Amino acid sequence: MQQHLEALRDSKYCSLWHDQDIRPEVLPPLAENITCELLIVGGGFTGLWAALQAKERQADADIVLIEKTFVGDGASGRNGGFLNSSLAHGETNTDHHFPGEAEKLHQLGQQNMAELLETLERYNIDARYEKVGETEVATNPGSVEAMRKDYEAEKSAGDDVAWFDQKEMQAQVNSPTYLAGLWRKDGQDGIIDPARVCWGLKRVLLDLGVRIFENTPLITCKPIGSDKMNSTCLSHIITSDKVLMATNAYRNPLTAVSRTTIPVWDYQLATEPLNEEQLAAIGWHKTRHAIGNHANMFHYYRMTKDNRITWGGGGAVRYYFNKGTDTSCADIPARFEQLSKEFFETFPQLTGLKFSHRWSGIIATSTRFCMVPGVTLNGRVAWAVGYTGLGVGATRFGARIGIELLGYQPSDILKMQFVTKKPMPWAPEPFRWFGVKFTQNALIKADKNNGKRGLWLKLLDALNLGFTC
Ligand SMILES: Cc1cc2nc3c(=O)[nH]c(=O)nc-3n(C[C@H](O)[C@H](O)[C@H](O)COP(=O)(O)OP(=O)(O)OC[C@H]3O[C@@H](n4cnc5c(N)ncnc54)[C@H](O)[C@@H]3O)c2cc1C
Repeated sequence: MQQHLEALRDSKYCSLWHDQDIRPEVLPPLAENITCELLIVGGGFTGLWAALQAKERQADADIVLIEKTFVGDGASGRNGGFLNSSLAHGETNTDHHFPGEAEKLHQLGQQNMAELLETLERYNIDARYEKVGETEVATNPGSVEAMRKDYEAEKSAGDDVAWFDQKEMQAQVNSPTYLAGLWRKDGQDGIIDPARVCWGLKRVLLDLGVRIFENTPLITCKPIGSDKMNSTCLSHIITSDKVLMATNAYRNPLTAVSRTTIPVWDYQLATEPLNEEQLAAIGWHKTRHAIGNHANMFHYYRMTKDNRITWGGGGAVRYYFNKGTDTSCADIPARFEQLSKEFFETFPQLTGLKFSHRWSGIIATSTRFCMVPGVTLNGRVAWAVGYTGLGVGATRFGARIGIELLGYQPSDILKMQFVTKKPMPWAPEPFRWFGVKFTQNALIKADKNNGKRGLWLKLLDALNLGFTC
């Protein structure tokens, strides 16, 4: 059997982060009709941070949070754990979509990050945070050139960045595919264990009196009279003053929310813990940078506290026609085989290393490639969805916008284009599928062609629809 297939043979389909002894009990589902002030739908980062921030702003707020399966079952318990301060998915995307707001969004991102970390500390949530910054690696000459330009620009803007030529980069992390590296060590960017954040927030919310019901899917959500909402969850009804939709990539009863995002599947692997010899062969444990390669179909990978490597992204990312969030897309052997092959191309010296876990998750992708807030029914229903692969930090800010739109101490941020500008809706099927497929093929082609973007990508760039971080 080929090495990359052999490495997968005994892997278990389960998020590495879910597979821990400290995972809490799943709470009972809703079993009666109830009333509350604020209903939050979705037990991922957005829903959990929204409940906490609403409680911090109004201690007597009567809040109910419902989750269709269990807290952290969505992207929040399945991601790479890269904690990044960017709110709008990188500088280029920010400039494209929110001209003139880059500086303000940068400040808000730094503030959000500082508050997020302070909150984890205050509530004694051990997220296994490591402030390691992020290193971008070049694996083709075009990327070296593009990254070098970024480095010069960032350095002259005063950012704390370091450039590594091939030898220096390989001395940090030894992959024969690396040609150069750009280490961004500004601020507090780093890595965390995402499930521990979900579980920690869940514990804190219960202590603060938030009622949480798991295995409780929202089915319908309708206005009652001029100031209430009725939300049905299987056979019971929750009557509330306000509702926050924190359902991200999942189908939502409100069309305005559903048409904002498309579900893109992303796959990940985690290795067994590396032994001393394997660690010495790559040398990464000395710096532990979070790494991503400079490409459209980029890999993101990092080390865990117990010296495993998690590895995701690359060519395995997919949007499936007419499947949505259907679990038949979750455990597809070909996706993991491709990831495994790409892993050993990057680290051939780790031949023999096995993968212990394989899993997948759904990225809610918006046409502006970052979160989309919204509000309707005179401020009774709001939403914060669509973080597009960079939501570990940004969800706390999205949650803040969501509750401010519902009237919990609204601030000036609600006047920013980031909040007021409506995103372009996704086209209906089958146009959507053709569009995504065509674009993905163009991105793959550009990666093979030293990063050179073809006509289709140039057209999308001109329309601010090209995905460039
Ligand atoms: C594989 C993968 C890797 C990623 N890596 C990174 C990374 O390294 N760094 C980064 O910044 N971002 C990353 N992301 C993105 C990040 O994880 C998300 O942006 C973030 O977790 C979104 O949080 P959320 O709470 O909005 O959504 P989710 O975590 O998806 O939560 C939504 C919740 O709503 C629930 N729900 C849906 N519909 C209903 C309903 N009708 N009734 C009740 N409940 C419902 C779902 O079950 C789910 O638990 C990654 C995403 C994936 C999938």
